[in-house]
Amino acid sequence: MSHVQLSNVTKTYDDVVAVEGIDLTVRDGEFLVVVGPSGCGKSTTLRMVAGLETISGGEIGIGSKVVNDVRPQDRNIAMVFQNYALYPHMSVRENMSFGLRLSGEYEAAVIDDRVENAAELLEIPELLEQYPKELSGGQQQRVALGRAIVRDPEVFLMDEPLSNLDAKLRSQMRTELQRLHEELGVTTVYVTHDQTEAMTMGDRIAILNDGELQQVAEPEVCYSEPNNRFVAGFIGSPSMNFFEVAVESESDGIHVDGDSFQTDLNVSLETGRYTLGIRPEDLRLADESGRIPADVDVVEPMGADNYLYLNPPTDDDREKEIVARVDSEYSPDTGERIDLDFDIEDIHFFDETGDRVPTTIAEQTTSR
Ligand code: ADP
Repeated sequence: MSHVQLSNVTKTYDDVVAVEGIDLTVRDGEFLVVVGPSGCGKSTTLRMVAGLETISGGEIGIGSKVVNDVRPQDRNIAMVFQNYALYPHMSVRENMSFGLRLSGEYEAAVIDDRVENAAELLEIPELLEQYPKELSGGQQQRVALGRAIVRDPEVFLMDEPLSNLDAKLRSQMRTELQRLHEELGVTTVYVTHDQTEAMTMGDRIAILNDGELQQVAEPEVCYSEPNNRFVAGFIGSPSMNFFEVAVESESDGIHVDGDSFQTDLNVSLETGRYTLGIRPEDLRLADESGRIPADVDVVEPMGADNYLYLNPPTDDDREKEIVARVDSEYSPDTGERIDLDFDIEDIHFFDETGDRVPTTIAEQTTSR
């Protein structure tokens, strides 16, 4: 096992900066998920660690060794891709053993042992003599994983390995990958564009946008203490609601002035313009007149919850939709005016650069 270290790593293609000055340490034995929207530089980052892409600047280390100039086959890593790329004319056993046989470093008995152990671990020993076309998508993905496992690498690099599978299988394979990681304990870098996958699988997640690292932290930290507005909007589904507001600092808190609501809050924050962020699950129906009035547009039943899609009353711009996640027992009519409320611990303020500004609860001198 080994840690992986990226120091100020940059990749440019002609005039496109694909990855910009990334500093990132993947800890020994950690399952780190790199997540971000399409084109943000995830695959490029992973391919640079693998050695499949040269780096334009910075340094990459695996264990104690700088690998900038080390060939991919000498980096002691194993990659798993979305496209399983199994050889159709080879059996599962042959597919899994191919890399080891090719290296010429192992005796046949050692290879057999490794293949059989990996097949046991993946619960596919009965498939060893079958051919890829006889296997389901999930089984093929297991074989692709097996091919990586038999190499006994220091690091697994996985690029959207589950995105070809249907939703149910994908969720099964997530659990399966986590079990494998627990058993093998191999440092893993896992790339996905799917924030749910990141949130459920990662020991920590690294969020990228436009080639730049936005935050590296445990999933729950990215969720509850996002570094900036991008992370706040990217993590969590449905996305956080954002309101542009003017804040006025007062002796016992702040006055918040938005397009369609005004409210006094018991927090300390400097006067200025901010974006106020509130997650759908942190909005609730107000008992009486609430802080945020809104008109019901669509009610989407999700089983235990209903998602309410709402429009601010003074805003005819449809894009400024508010989403609230409420108990399924509450199902208002389209067009109904409702009032929403929230707890001040659950809201976030972002300054004009997009950075989150931590707030503290103000000393309460008057009741608000
Ligand atoms: P992601 O994996 O997050 O979808 P990529 O790492 O594939 O993103 O791409 C990052 C950026 O680099 C994108 O703007 C993409 O168009 C660009 N890019 C990737 N590979 C190449 C290439 N071979 N030549 C030119 N531009 C590339």
